[in-house]
Amino acid sequence: MQIQSNLKKIRDDIRAAAQKSGWDPSRVTLIAVSKRKPRDMIQQAIDAGQRDFGENYIQEAMEKIDILGRKSAIWHFIGHLQSNKAKFAVKYFDLIHTVDTVKLAGEINRQARKIGKIQEILLQVNIARETTKSGAEENEIIDIAKQAGQFDHLHISGLMCMPPFFDDPEDARIYFKRLKQISENIERLNLPHTDMTHLSMGMSNDFTVAVEEGATLVRVGTAIFGAR
Ligand SMILES: *Cc1c(COP(=O)(O)O)cnc(C)c1O
Repeated sequence: MQIQSNLKKIRDDIRAAAQKSGWDPSRVTLIAVSKRKPRDMIQQAIDAGQRDFGENYIQEAMEKIDILGRKSAIWHFIGHLQSNKAKFAVKYFDLIHTVDTVKLAGEINRQARKIGKIQEILLQVNIARETTKSGAEENEIIDIAKQAGQFDHLHISGLMCMPPFFDDPEDARIYFKRLKQISENIERLNLPHTDMTHLSMGMSNDFTVAVEEGATLVRVGTAIFGAR
């Protein structure tokens, strides 16, 4: 019941935030981040109508997805991805949010070609230039997009970022605005295999601000499933 009512509240908040800024609420997808949460909680969310789930750790995700079923949900990989795990990410996930090097993009492309898949990916930007976070630097991202756009088994469908945690979510707003600007700069390049449909930004504490700034994918864990 708790998961169901949490989901309802978040959906209402997303709708209100979108309408406040003149966005169509239906362009925003809520991703329920289920890392380190048991399968039965994911099942409860599925039963409550939730379709999209985010996982961070390949091994943990594979175990859950094998039992719940690959087709039981839309699976988003949102953790740091090592090239040697790309094969599994391609096999299990509909969208990989965290591509931040040409090398990783190349490996995902290679694995996708092997199984005849066009893998949808996002490029992750280290938007606040934090040394502890993954993601490409802003000044590298255009070059990565140009090179990754050449790979014919990838489809780049937008950008992802994870700003610092702030007590006041308003402080994250400048980073969300910046990600949107970068995506507009990339859109103008008209790169192959690329469109800037998605902005993956906003978590439990700041998703309403992210939606106001144009997020199309919000990644919410704690506010749905409780503290980890
Ligand atoms: C864990 C995680 C989230 C969800 O964070 P919450 O604060 O629990 O909503 C979102 N995005 C990424 C990349 C994460 O690792």
